[in-house]
Amino acid sequence: MPFFVYHCPDCGAEIELLRPASQRDEPVRCEACGSERATRSAASFASALGSGSGGGRSSGSSCGGGGGGFT
Ligand SMILES: [Zn+2]
Repeated sequence: MPFFVYHCPDCGAEIELLRPASQRDEPVRCEACGSERATRSAASFASALGSGSGGGRSSGSSCGGGGGGFT
């Protein structure tokens, strides 16, 4: 289940929710001020893509291993 970040326009709070992608645009209630106008933040895109792309099996090792003996 992807992770989404919502922003409350009334008090500026950020609400982090774990919910199905099909419900990502559903209204969210702000816990801080009770407003129901919180909207999905653009930051949630980065989180969703980062956690969902690839298994990360060799991304780290390939980067570190190529650094030595390059000269
Ligand atoms: Zn709020």
